[in-house]
Amino acid sequence: MTLELTIVPCLSDNYAWIIHEQATDTTAVIDVPDAAPILDVLKARGWRLNHILITHHHDDHIAGVEALAQMTGARVIGAAQDAARLPALSDAVAPGDRFPLGIQTVEVIDAPGHTLGHVAYYLAEAGLLFSGDSLMSWGCGRLFEGTPAQMHATLRRLAALPPETRICSGHEYTEANGRFALALEPGSPALVARMAEVRALRAEGKPSLPPTLAQELATNPFLRADDGLRRALGLPEGASALELFTEARARKDRF
Ligand code: ZN
Ligand code: FE
Repeated sequence: MTLELTIVPCLSDNYAWIIHEQATDTTAVIDVPDAAPILDVLKARGWRLNHILITHHHDDHIAGVEALAQMTGARVIGAAQDAARLPALSDAVAPGDRFPLGIQTVEVIDAPGHTLGHVAYYLAEAGLLFSGDSLMSWGCGRLFEGTPAQMHATLRRLAALPPETRICSGHEYTEANGRFALALEPGSPALVARMAEVRALRAEGKPSLPPTLAQELATNPFLRADDGLRRALGLPEGASALELFTEARARKDRF
């Protein structure tokens, strides 16, 4: 069974993700910063859009939802908790819900921190996580609404998925995030190697996404809680994982 994943650059640095299941001719898009580039892909591939999945209410993730839904007749799926500030939903979902998408099952995962109603969508069989602005490539979203504890719990939940899971997030921020990681731990071989990979992709005009969860676990300062990172943050022995996260997030905000 083949599930095709297409990344669609939108606006200045946003990504929408299109998944297409050949067996059932089912197509979905995750987040719609802008309808036009998504329509272009659908048209070029001859795909009919069935579902629009929304991760969170920020304009750069939903601006094109209404236009795209109107033009394609796709069902719009988003968090019930945020229904009042999302475009009109055909299906309001809650964390823990599972719903079919062709022959795949999508699991809704609670992902607050960046916003309170933020959700992630996980397709276990395909090994895909659509994480919006929660867990991001080499980073995590800013805490606009949630507390450090909420985002930390979100990241712990997502970090427990299988390591081969591909993390499909909402922005091309990898290089900027990597500069922060390297400022904390200059010369760290794993970080230097990842930065070289990212820069090579970007130099060719290619997206640096999606990384695997394994890559994130090894290099993302918001997922790690090892002694090396603790020392880099100048925190005492015995500092908790939440304290490490809180300090790393505060420093990134000032970086
Ligand atoms: Zn956002
Ligand atoms: Fe965003």
